Amino acid sequence: MLPDIRSQTRETLAAQFNAWGQPSYRLDQLLGWLYARRAASWDAMSNLPKALREQLAATWSLHLPELVVKQGSRDTTQKLLWRLADGALIESVLIPANPALYGEDSDRHTLCISTQVGCAYGCRFCASGLEGWKRNLTISEIVGQILAVERWAAANPPESPAPATPSAEAAVEGGSPAPAAKPAAPAPSRIVNNIVVMGMGEPMANFDNLMPALRALNAAWGCGIGARKITISTSGLAPRIRDLARDPLQFRLAISLHGATDAVRGQIMPVNRKYPLAELTAACEDYVRHKGKMITLEYILIAGVNDGLDQVMPLADLAHRLHAKVNLIPYNKVDGLPWERPTDDVCETFADQLDQQEVVVTLRREKGHDIDAACGQLRLKTEKKSEETASTPTPAA
Ligand code: SAH
Ligand code: SF4
Repeated sequence: MLPDIRSQTRETLAAQFNAWGQPSYRLDQLLGWLYARRAASWDAMSNLPKALREQLAATWSLHLPELVVKQGSRDTTQKLLWRLADGALIESVLIPANPALYGEDSDRHTLCISTQVGCAYGCRFCASGLEGWKRNLTISEIVGQILAVERWAAANPPESPAPATPSAEAAVEGGSPAPAAKPAAPAPSRIVNNIVVMGMGEPMANFDNLMPALRALNAAWGCGIGARKITISTSGLAPRIRDLARDPLQFRLAISLHGATDAVRGQIMPVNRKYPLAELTAACEDYVRHKGKMITLEYILIAGVNDGLDQVMPLADLAHRLHAKVNLIPYNKVDGLPWERPTDDVCETFADQLDQQEVVVTLRREKGHDIDAACGQLRLKTEKKSEETASTPTPAA
C-alpha cells in the first residue's frame, strides 16, 4: 500500500513537487485541499491539473477514517467510532461549546482525539488499556479524526436531523470535476476550534507521530488551530514532557495525576513505578520554566481509592509548586471494572478543601457520562458486540 499523503511533512511534499517541476503555488493548492477542504478523493481537487492528480495518486494514498458508530445527539456530546484502513477501531468525542451559558458560537466544538489503538500503560481504572496496545496511529490518522469529524458535521448540520444538503466539498466531489481554470469554491469553515489529546492511547508514547500531526493542525497551511487551543494529556512520561518543553510551539499540557502520593498513584497507575512523582514533577517544573504556561493536573475521583482527604494537602503542595490548576473529574464507571464514582458530597468536599488551600480547582460534571465518554469504552463495546454477532456493527446514523 502507498504511504498516506497526510502523513508526509510539508517539506517532503515540497521536495517532490520540486522534483516534478511543479510551481510552488501548486503545493499551496494541494495543502488547501488536504487540510482546509478536507478532501477525501483526488478527483475532488478540481483546480489541480489531471496529470498532477494522477502523479499524486500513483505516489500516495488518500484516506480519512470511516464513521462506524455515533452516539449522542447533535447538540450535546457525541462519541464517534472510526474504522481505519486496516480495520482497527478508534474513538473521538465531539463536545459543543455551550452557547446558552457562555454566548459562544454554537458551531464551535472541542474534539477529543485518540493517538493509539489501545494503550500499553494499563491504568487500572481505564477502558483503553483493557485489551493492551495494538499500534500507534499514523500522523494521517491523528489529523484525519478532525477532518473526518468536520466533513461529517458539515454534511449533518444541527437544524436537520436527516443527512443533509451536501457541503461545498461534497458537492464538488459528487459532480464532475470543474475545469482546471475555474477557482475552487471557498473552503468550508472550521467546526473544531479546540483539541484535547485525551482519547485512546498515551500520546507521549507516540511522540514522533503526535508532534508532526499537531504541527499540521496548527499551521496556517494546515488546519490553522491555535497551539494554545491544543492540549496534550499524559499519564506522566517524564522524558517526553521535557522534550515538549523544548518544542517551539505553545501546546498546553495536562497531567493525569489521579494520586498525590506515590503510594496512592502507584496503586492505580503502573507508570508511576517508572516515573515516580519526584521525577514527574521535576519534568513538569522544567516544562513550566521553559514555557511560562500553567499546566493542568487531572484528578479522577474514585470512591475509596484516591478520594480521601489525606490526598488534599499533598495535592495542594504539588499544585502550588507547579503553579498548576486542578481539574477534578468524578470517575466514569467502566463495564467489568470494580471502581465507582464517589457521591457528589464527597467530590464537593474534596474540591472545597483544595479551594481552602487556595488551589485553583474545578470540579467537572462529566459531559457525555451517559454515552461512555471515558476513553476506550465505545470501542470495547463495539468489538465485543461484533464478536458476539460475528457481523459488522450498526452503521452510523
Ligand atoms: N493517556 C493519556 C491520555 C488519554 S486518557 C492520559 O492518561 O492522560 C485521558 C484522560 O481520561 C486521563 O486523564 C485518564 O486518566 C482519564 N480517564 C480514563 N478512564 C477514565 C474513566 N473511566 N473516568 C474518567 N476519566 C477517565
Ligand atoms: Fe493509557 Fe491514559 Fe488510559 Fe492510562 S489513562 S491506560 S495512559 S489511555
